[in-house]
Amino acid sequence: MSGYFSDLITGSKSLLSGLGVTFKAMVSPVVTVQYPREKIDVTPAIRGHIDLVKDEGTGAHRCIVCLSCMKICPCQCITVEGEKQEGVKGKVLTLFTLDFTKCSLCGLCVESCRPRAIDFCSEYELAGFSREEFFYDLLKRVKERA
Ligand code: SF4
Ligand code: SF4
Repeated sequence: MSGYFSDLITGSKSLLSGLGVTFKAMVSPVVTVQYPREKIDVTPAIRGHIDLVKDEGTGAHRCIVCLSCMKICPCQCITVEGEKQEGVKGKVLTLFTLDFTKCSLCGLCVESCRPRAIDFCSEYELAGFSREEFFYDLLKRVKERA
């Protein structure tokens, strides 16, 4: 009989302890969001894929076609092309693509770019159904933002 009461007391303590945890969670501030209906502001330190930076002064990109990013990329996922144009000093950027399927987000390209023409974007919803969806035309993207 004493075993019965002992089990009853132990069970009640356990039940109250569990209810305490539940009640504490009910009155605590909510830290989760109803994604994808709700979204949070991501940290500025987020590393999405690289993107050409839009110069706030000119509204254009800052790339000088030095090819440093393309040469240093260990995954060979950047393709940069430029051409000489009449009356323009230096080369004009004609192609800047990224194969994000190969990118390891190492950051070497961003660090090597002296004019700070590339940086990591803050996009994180990057799901897709084919590899082609992860081949980004960064020149087109920066022009669309201009
Ligand atoms: S993004 Fe930077 S490192 Fe790459 S080609 Fe342009 S200027 Fe050079
Ligand atoms: S972050 Fe690294 S792997 Fe990705 S494009 Fe830049 S250099 Fe290449």
